[in-house]
Amino acid sequence: MFLDPNCIFCKIVAGEAEASVVYQDKYVTVFMDIRPVVQGHTLVVPNIHSPDLSSLDQAHAQHMFTTALNIAQAIRASELKCEGINLFMADGGAAGQTVFHNHLHIIPRYIGDGFGLRFPVGYGEQPARAELDRTAANIAALMTTHQLNDRD
Ligand code: 5GP
Ligand code: ZN
Repeated sequence: MFLDPNCIFCKIVAGEAEASVVYQDKYVTVFMDIRPVVQGHTLVVPNIHSPDLSSLDQAHAQHMFTTALNIAQAIRASELKCEGINLFMADGGAAGQTVFHNHLHIIPRYIGDGFGLRFPVGYGEQPARAELDRTAANIAALMTTHQLNDRD
């Protein structure tokens, strides 16, 4: 397991920094966000120092998302105020990432919680189908082989 001694999430994974841990196994550590958007805001963190999605291996990525589903169900079943849930991941500074060790946010939501995403001016206009098709083809062409091979 590669951990970076200068990374706060690596220190939490290693048990060297204080955190309110929900769950830990071979692949992931789950703990409460220190500055929660709402009560119950939880982070799922791979037990390996990889700064962003492009450097995250499949096994850790899969485990991070399946664990997030499990945690989301537990939050729903809990007494926390939770009428909905956002899974949120910031990949890169432009996307809002501030801690450069991959992590998936689980954020309980309820009407009136004050949280939300801001949409750009002009949002809501539907592009032409040809433009959507072109964008789809561009992305599909760049998918990596192992992902395509995993398909049924
Ligand atoms: P990002 O902006 O990178 O998606 O989210 C980083 C998150 O990590 C923030 O929500 C922030 O509150 C949380 N965070 C930063 N430092 C610590 C820490 O030392 N302990 C815990 N538990 N959470 C942290
Ligand atoms: Zn790290």
